Amino acid sequence: MLPRGKSDALFAEALNHIPGGVNSPVRAFRAVGGAPFFVTSAKGAWITDVDGNRLLDYVGTWGPAILGHAYPGIIDAVKAAADRGTSFGIPNPGEVTLARRVKEWVPSIGKIRFCNSGTEACMSAIRLARGFTRRDKIIKFDGCYHGHADSLLVKAGSGALTFGNPDSAGVPADFAKHTLVLPFNDAEAIRAAFAAHGPEIAAVIVEGVPANAGLYLPRPGYYELITQLCRDAGSVFIFDEVMTGFRLAKGGAQERYSLTPDLSCFGKIIGAGLPVGAFGGRTDIMDCLAPLGPVYQAGTLSGNPLAMAAGLAALEALEATKAYERLEQLGLQLEAGMVEAARAAKIPVTWQRIGSMFCGYFTEGPVWNLADAMKSDRARFAKFFHGMLAEGIYLAPSQFEAGFISTAHTPEDIDATVRAAAKVLKTL
Ligand SMILES: *Cc1c(COP(=O)(O)O)cnc(C)c1O
Repeated sequence: MLPRGKSDALFAEALNHIPGGVNSPVRAFRAVGGAPFFVTSAKGAWITDVDGNRLLDYVGTWGPAILGHAYPGIIDAVKAAADRGTSFGIPNPGEVTLARRVKEWVPSIGKIRFCNSGTEACMSAIRLARGFTRRDKIIKFDGCYHGHADSLLVKAGSGALTFGNPDSAGVPADFAKHTLVLPFNDAEAIRAAFAAHGPEIAAVIVEGVPANAGLYLPRPGYYELITQLCRDAGSVFIFDEVMTGFRLAKGGAQERYSLTPDLSCFGKIIGAGLPVGAFGGRTDIMDCLAPLGPVYQAGTLSGNPLAMAAGLAALEALEATKAYERLEQLGLQLEAGMVEAARAAKIPVTWQRIGSMFCGYFTEGPVWNLADAMKSDRARFAKFFHGMLAEGIYLAPSQFEAGFISTAHTPEDIDATVRAAAKVLKTL
């Protein structure tokens, strides 16, 4: 066990002030047991906690830290922007520059609007799709997370085609009933949904790759099928690239899978660690937003000058450093090492990866959807998580989260991670 007296004292006090001691639930370590540590600083691939522990970080602030923490170009850009003022509430040049840059990288974007989080981006894209089509129903997939807006906090009941029940107290069943939840990667299920409800479906929303229940990938042709069904029914295809955007390629998952969604959602990397989201796509749809059209959406801090500066600096650095080639190599190295370590320890692990995103499920596999993911041995994951933490390696504190590699990780870091995993796996 690493020293953790100061973290424990802070957490004990936090419990008196903040529900569960945290400002976002997964940070509370409920899925693995124990209590979170408190971070004072982070640099590159490493984070330092209040007890002085240095941890090799594969959470990367849940995705934004693709260049590692405190990347100099980003910090300089934010400092320079802060010197000019933190918010103006009227347009600033950074909004135009970042919008132009995103359009260059993501050809499906005709127009884009910036907001403050991935949640806001997805919530607004859904409202826009409903306003544009003048329809109410949406389709989402079990295990996909699109932030915590009311109509998106719905997961599947059993059965291929069930209208959702709210996943959270406080969400009226009347909202949730417009959300149809389907199993991911099930072509028949979505064909049946469109056959039954096509003319009522405003939108289908899906993650670039589902990475909020671990990580699983679309079967060949599945996203093309969704695209075609949406086109035929006049429904809006919303691609949630909050996690995958600017991570899997310059053009995100849609570049990797050669897709042209109607609308896309962004967050995380686009703000480089500052609170940013964005949604954009077809100009005829985007022009339904106020002030041009009838769909209302707004934000006091939207397009914030610090956030725009950070996002722009991140995209520039990703391009300048040939980041995606490096991330692919590191991802491959980690995959090879982890698969071999699990084999040597005779522990069934299904290793999933795309680029710099990964998840090792403690199950024989294969994992194509939430039902498959749920077969993993979560108690074993919890032991593995704490074993790795004791080795100074910080993985996401849940089996159902993706891990992230940054360009600040080195091949030596990956080797050390594999050695630690080989050791910990043998104890499970
Ligand atoms: C993180 C995430 C969101 C929500 O973004 P927040 O900034 O946490 O509100 C939405 N969609 C996906 C795919 C995400 O990974």
